[in-house]
Amino acid sequence: MAYQLSPFYGIGIPVAIIATLGYASHYFFFIEDLSIEKQVVFQLSLTMLWASYIIAIYKKPGSPPSDFEPRRGQWRKWCKKCNCYKPERAHHCKTCGVCVLKMDHHCPWTANCVGHYNMPHFLRFLLWVVWTNGFCLYYLLKRDKSYWDDRHLPSYLISKTSLTMAIVLTPLAILVEVSVGVLAIRCFYHILSSGMTQIECWEYERLEEQCENGKLYPILRDNYRKLFGKDLKSYTSWSMTPQVLRDSMDESDYAQFGIDDIIFPYDLGPWSNLIHAFGHPYKWILPFAGPIGDGLTFPVNEYVEPEDDLSSMPWPPDGWHQDKDSDATIDQQSDQFFDENERVIRRRKTGAVRSQWENRYGESLADFGVDMDSEL
Ligand SMILES: [Zn+2]
Ligand SMILES: [Zn+2]
Repeated sequence: MAYQLSPFYGIGIPVAIIATLGYASHYFFFIEDLSIEKQVVFQLSLTMLWASYIIAIYKKPGSPPSDFEPRRGQWRKWCKKCNCYKPERAHHCKTCGVCVLKMDHHCPWTANCVGHYNMPHFLRFLLWVVWTNGFCLYYLLKRDKSYWDDRHLPSYLISKTSLTMAIVLTPLAILVEVSVGVLAIRCFYHILSSGMTQIECWEYERLEEQCENGKLYPILRDNYRKLFGKDLKSYTSWSMTPQVLRDSMDESDYAQFGIDDIIFPYDLGPWSNLIHAFGHPYKWILPFAGPIGDGLTFPVNEYVEPEDDLSSMPWPPDGWHQDKDSDATIDQQSDQFFDENERVIRRRKTGAVRSQWENRYGESLADFGVDMDSEL
């Protein structure tokens, strides 16, 4: 699934498509079909689209400072390539070759990582594409309809060049609207519904599968002990009616443990999630407006109890230190509860090992651009 696209094609293809749709549609159709006011609106939208695209290409997502130290209660994840600790939500990008704050994915179409500082620019770019291309598509379809209505007229009355351009531009505009529209919906849905980056959504689905095989809880309990130096006394189950379960843990308690009992700490509710990712509402349309926060630490929701509950575990809760002098990996740590036979079956069939696991779309962590050598 992982693919590499050179920046020449990654940026060249969108530039060619935007220029073709934006200027050919205007020249062949909009000068004739639209009022001056509508033509101005279209060209202003196109200018904003170009501006947001250029900023999305050049604005860096941010990298951690070399002296960054994780605070107590966070994983100590040492990046052996950058020689620094990764802050929470950061990953090392294989293409950019640096650790990226709140990494969402590496985008081949901007030849840049989408992360904390450029997420608003990337979202604005998607929205300007959906709006401007939607405008273009609407008037192209109107022109197509007029060609259809005039289909019985003698053909010398119809400009062959314009008809050819309509046949070329309409499918292109539909393709752009659907593909960018789906990506925009996916990004905004994740932000509003959970505040997760695309990598964190992937991580959540992986944990969900581990929950289903019933072996996640012992890993979390062991991690809690390592992280806070004491035993986990209880966890709050949100499965049916919220209830605190003691760690006497008979079999029925284990059976109740599900993915709903794992709280994603950075989910602050739809409105706050949107503001933290996209910035203050009064700046949304401004080309240079950035996000809230420094990308090194993030506010957590009210259900996170400091050192008191399973909810205080850092994300992902089945991770563990990859400290400066440690060779341990998340895979090795989460594998420790499985005997050798089971481990082989898991790797082959369920793919629950983090570096190899694929979600329902067949995406592995590497497909988001994460450098797996640095992640392990
Ligand atoms: Zn790094
Ligand atoms: Zn990158």
